[in-house]
Amino acid sequence: MQFNNTWHNELAGFYTALMPTPLKNPRLLYHSPSLAQELGIDESLFSTAAPWSGESLLPGMQPLAQVYSGHQFGVWAGQLGDGRGLLLGEQQLPDGRKMDWHLKGAGLTPYSRMGDGRAVLRSSLREFLASEAMHHLGVPTSRALTVVTSDEPVYRETTERGAMLLRVAESHLRFGHFEHFFYGGQPEKVRELADYAIRHHWPQYQDEQDRYLLWFSDVVKRTARLIAYWQSIGFAHGVMNTDNMSILGITLDYGPYGFLDDYKPDFICNHSDYQGRYSFDNQPVVGLWNLNRLAHALSSLLDATQLKQALSGYETELMRCWGEKMRAKLGLLTPHRDDNDILTGLLSLMTKEGSDYTLTFRKLCDTEQQQSRSPLRDEFIDREAFDSWYNVYRQRLLQEARQDEQRQQEMKQVNPAIILRNYLAQQAIEQAEKDDISVLARLHQALSRPFDDAPEFADLTRRPPDWGKTLEVSCSS
Ligand code: AMP
Ligand code: MG
Repeated sequence: MQFNNTWHNELAGFYTALMPTPLKNPRLLYHSPSLAQELGIDESLFSTAAPWSGESLLPGMQPLAQVYSGHQFGVWAGQLGDGRGLLLGEQQLPDGRKMDWHLKGAGLTPYSRMGDGRAVLRSSLREFLASEAMHHLGVPTSRALTVVTSDEPVYRETTERGAMLLRVAESHLRFGHFEHFFYGGQPEKVRELADYAIRHHWPQYQDEQDRYLLWFSDVVKRTARLIAYWQSIGFAHGVMNTDNMSILGITLDYGPYGFLDDYKPDFICNHSDYQGRYSFDNQPVVGLWNLNRLAHALSSLLDATQLKQALSGYETELMRCWGEKMRAKLGLLTPHRDDNDILTGLLSLMTKEGSDYTLTFRKLCDTEQQQSRSPLRDEFIDREAFDSWYNVYRQRLLQEARQDEQRQQEMKQVNPAIILRNYLAQQAIEQAEKDDISVLARLHQALSRPFDDAPEFADLTRRPPDWGKTLEVSCSS
């Protein structure tokens, strides 16, 4: 395994080099064998906690805390930075890609501000499970390799176990990195960082005269696509501050996220988000707001016309990508002008009836176009309203002239049977806090094949029990 530390070597002034602070009595609680295999990591490395708990480093690692700033809940928050995570090193993969290894919960850094530099087991497992679930749902995301538990008390609302999560991502480059140097009055550093991003992640633009425009336009489009993915799968991030936004368009920093149970467009997953700024249906608007903040930070590289030109690609790309995904969820292959009415018709019925987002679309997969009765009919109280929607939908399917079986199969590849509901994560966490990983391992396994009909995991596809609907998650993690 080789670590090439480009951030460390090429970006002096963008970080503080420092070592992790180990936890008291750390134990490797869990790791992802499939990710380990993908990254070419020898299984023997998982026989001890040491490399995963900051007690020892692998050869070639050069740990550092990155400095960045950001807008939090719409307000300029000034300097933030890695307050409890360290970039241990960048693994060079045989296919040319590199992977940041980031250890979250690694102790105090110069950017810890009022925090303790720690992460608790509960939130580390929530991040582990969500990022793995998102990956297998096909959403661009950081991934999770290991979770270490310990006997270190960490104080949140109550005393919890200190933990560390090792996550990997092609880059942890955030909107907030650019904002930091822009607002700090260092445009030359903004340029240096943009050059770094292009060199490593957009090498195809390196020799282009208008490379900054090409690059920023692509950041806009990637962000648009990411949000389209989130909306189609029913994922609410919860803390879309600019410091949590990835330049590469991947999902980063899982905190008080939530997957939709009932279809509620105004769903707020983060209990500290009193205004609902980051509600589910605000995500597309917030994505653009955040891109506007980034654009401002790039104003020494691009003029106002260029920035506007790049930003104007957002809505088109988001609607294109979202439309494509939602049409696929409905089993419609070719675009048609009535599709939007069919979709909004179903969504408004679902809103009215509080239908489960995931289960409704999954059941819709079983539609047989010759049958005038829908498999979903009994799920709706207002049968009349449902029937009139279904008639239009069925006519539309008949126009596609496709075999049921093929359509059903394809629909099942985009409409998951299982998502990470809060109550499922909670059950896994409660057992893991007692050092029993069986529930966690089983859930992880089920989330690794979300599109399969897996009778052995049928219990994990259910709607939440009453206690699971009211679980509170907030920024405190
Ligand atoms: P988040 O909302 O988790 O993305 O965190 C926002 C900022 O606060 C980031 O700079 C984090 O590194 C920092 N932070 C969050 N929790 C802690 C903590 N327990 N100790 C130190 N810094 C933290
Ligand atoms: Mg963050």
